[in-house]
Amino acid sequence: SGEAPTVGGRTSAEAFARAQAVIPGGVNSPVRAFGAVGGTPPFVASGSGPYLTDVDGREYVDLVGSWGPALLGHAHPQVVEAVQAAAARGLGFGAPTVAEVELVDEIRSRVPAAEMVRLVSTGTEATMTALRLARAHTGRDLVVKFAGCYHGHVDALLASAGSGVATLALPDSAGVSAAVAAETIVVPYNDVEALEQVFATHGERIAAVITEAAPANMGVVPPGPGFNAELRRLTVEHGALLIQDEVLTGFRVGYSGWWGLEGLREGWAADLYTFGKVIGGGLPVAAVGGRRDVMRRLAPLGPVYQAGTLSGNPVATAAGLATLRLADSSVYARIDQAAGVLRTELSRALATEGVPHSVQWAGSLFSAMFGPAAADEGVRDYAAVQATESWRYAALHRSLLEAGVYAPPSPFEAWFVSAAHDDAALDRVLQAFPDAARAAAAA
Ligand code: PMP
Repeated sequence: SGEAPTVGGRTSAEAFARAQAVIPGGVNSPVRAFGAVGGTPPFVASGSGPYLTDVDGREYVDLVGSWGPALLGHAHPQVVEAVQAAAARGLGFGAPTVAEVELVDEIRSRVPAAEMVRLVSTGTEATMTALRLARAHTGRDLVVKFAGCYHGHVDALLASAGSGVATLALPDSAGVSAAVAAETIVVPYNDVEALEQVFATHGERIAAVITEAAPANMGVVPPGPGFNAELRRLTVEHGALLIQDEVLTGFRVGYSGWWGLEGLREGWAADLYTFGKVIGGGLPVAAVGGRRDVMRRLAPLGPVYQAGTLSGNPVATAAGLATLRLADSSVYARIDQAAGVLRTELSRALATEGVPHSVQWAGSLFSAMFGPAAADEGVRDYAAVQATESWRYAALHRSLLEAGVYAPPSPFEAWFVSAAHDDAALDRVLQAFPDAARAAAAA
């Protein structure tokens, strides 16, 4: 706090009014809108460690973390220093730099199945490229995705998508041609039989199965035991590629992402991986990586075209490299511990108020789902997510916001903590939970 509140108007309300006149919905990504929870989104002036300060001078404990990238908290001094040093050397060249190779090597050392990697600027580009590669490699057209999984705003992947598509209750997006939509098959998550059925019917036409390694865009819905391994088995059996989308989980849920928690132990890997968020440390970097024989199909080696003016941008690459180099096992241990405390105490507060709920989690990612069905059985797929008492979330969110806690403005998004969430920051959140749980109970 203490920053002069000036950015885009004198208050968040003024800034938002001005923004709405010139930016659709006043936001540059729908997930930032407050439609699902009500009220005006705070306009951020600055962030430091676990805190955000808005243009009104209010401080919040941030539980969104830029939707994932802020693994070390905001404005980590060593990351900022790396960015400043890179910026002083030039903002971008459109020619190769050594730091790009270093970032790719950092990724490969953590997920060896990413034998070759191409850097892009957004997760959307990464999944789009992964699909194109899978189609080129297999000579097939169809793609299988799971309901409630979000893979960016690629036309073919907007069917039954999570994240903002779920928050806005859209079955899919307008503007996607029928021809493109017809090439995507949507299967319920955690349902091996349904997938077997799809392969039995269309197996010879399926290029790839794409999945969030652990879904966190319909709220958190962890893969059941062995589910990802079944995807591996079925794709091998039918000659399709398996694309594990780790844009969100990659290098956030652990040193080697979700693969490090599951595939490493079970002894398998996907054909292609997509990464984003943490590998840019808050600046635009994402990546697609995987089997050498598949990746070698990319131009200029092969016929699959993919390119980007800003790909591997030196300032963004510096932020990602500094972030990953600081992200050692102690960082992940702290994040796991902090997430565990929040999960436990949120559940305790809700139980105290008699709110039936399930605090769902995958690694350090978690989200609260409400209602007797969620409480009894947990939530295993998107249909079950849609049957929860999600309206209770708005009241919970408003109460937290008033107490200075910035939780995701949607019941269908994961909560994120960082290694900078120290005991003081956690205490502030814990103190806000009882009132928030009361609000959820009364909703
Ligand atoms: N895949 C997953 C799993 C994601 O969570 C996201 C973004 N939330 C994306 C892809 C798309 O990434 P981007 O927003 O950088 O395009």
